Amino acid sequence: MTHIGERPLSVATTTVIAGRPPRRPGEPFSVGITPASALHAGGDNEYTRYGNPGWDAFESAIAELERGRWAVCYPSGMAAITALLDVVVSERGIVVAPHHAYFETLGFLRGWQSRGRIQLRSVDVTSTAAVLAAAKGADVVWLESPTNPTMELADISAICAGIPRGGPIVVVDNTTATPVLQQPLDMGADMVVHSATKHLGGHSDALMGVTVSNNEAVMNRLREERGLRGCTPGVLETFLVIRGVRTLALRVERAQDNARVIAERLRSHSAVTRVYYPGIGAMVSFEVDGSADDADNVCAQTEIWTNATSLGDVGSLLERRRRWTGESVDIPESLIRLSVGIEGADDLWDDLNRSLLRNCGTRLR
Ligand SMILES: *Cc1c(COP(=O)(O)O)cnc(C)c1O
Repeated sequence: MTHIGERPLSVATTTVIAGRPPRRPGEPFSVGITPASALHAGGDNEYTRYGNPGWDAFESAIAELERGRWAVCYPSGMAAITALLDVVVSERGIVVAPHHAYFETLGFLRGWQSRGRIQLRSVDVTSTAAVLAAAKGADVVWLESPTNPTMELADISAICAGIPRGGPIVVVDNTTATPVLQQPLDMGADMVVHSATKHLGGHSDALMGVTVSNNEAVMNRLREERGLRGCTPGVLETFLVIRGVRTLALRVERAQDNARVIAERLRSHSAVTRVYYPGIGAMVSFEVDGSADDADNVCAQTEIWTNATSLGDVGSLLERRRRWTGESVDIPESLIRLSVGIEGADDLWDDLNRSLLRNCGTRLR
């Protein structure tokens, strides 16, 4: 069900009802776990490397949420991303990608570039003109908005409107914003990918990925390749992520409210020199008045916030991004990235503030 009468359902309703089994007396109304490699012949699914009831439910739910016709799920976000690039980027093709984006997406593209598989054009996604200039002759324009970890915003609608018919495929990694806050297919994008590990799952207990699109040819290729390569998510992970999706709208809205409070308070904090928060989503980055070690200590000495990578968990996470050797070298050493969770905002603030005052800023100098 996607409409009530003529009216499209809200995202909040879709998160709760999409992908549920048909209503039959005595049958469960939530999606179960089906551990099976083979199923009775004659149905839609026969051998589960090609499809199974859990994936069907998950894929139809995410397709509805992202307002696309088809979805294909994967055992991780990177599996979704690399499978898509494999299919849509020709030999020695051109890929346009943001200066800042998920570091392993960029790492993968840079690896391809150094082996001569592609030509990579790196752009500032906040400049629509720069993206459109780079898009000429490209196979793919890869976008993230907000970007990771500096929270730049791309004008997805303007970029898509500026790409001519028959031009590059526009892909948006919508992991950070989620379909609760942004639906790129409606903004003109051709494909959406997610690390379902993050907000969709929401509890840091399962890796999964998914691609959504209205492009039938590409989606058929992806489905076929997934089966041939055996790049298949497990039934438990699928179950956990579907369960997570049921509370997606609530979690994202609450986390975004908390992020706004934290970003505002960081802006006037004596130990903070710069805050990156574009007003959308649950991620906030900031630079501390101090060294990399000071920033590491801020992350290590919180008690509610967890010092961990990843994002989109119910609990708040923080980390210094440059501790990863793969992170872009123009990201400041003292930059801390927050993934704000759904706890009480004042508790989060007091915990973070105490650690900041203990480790950074003029009070210590
Ligand atoms: C985590 C992440 C990925 C990769 O997803 P995995 O599930 O870890 O493979 C891709 N893009 C973004 C924006 C991410 O945050």
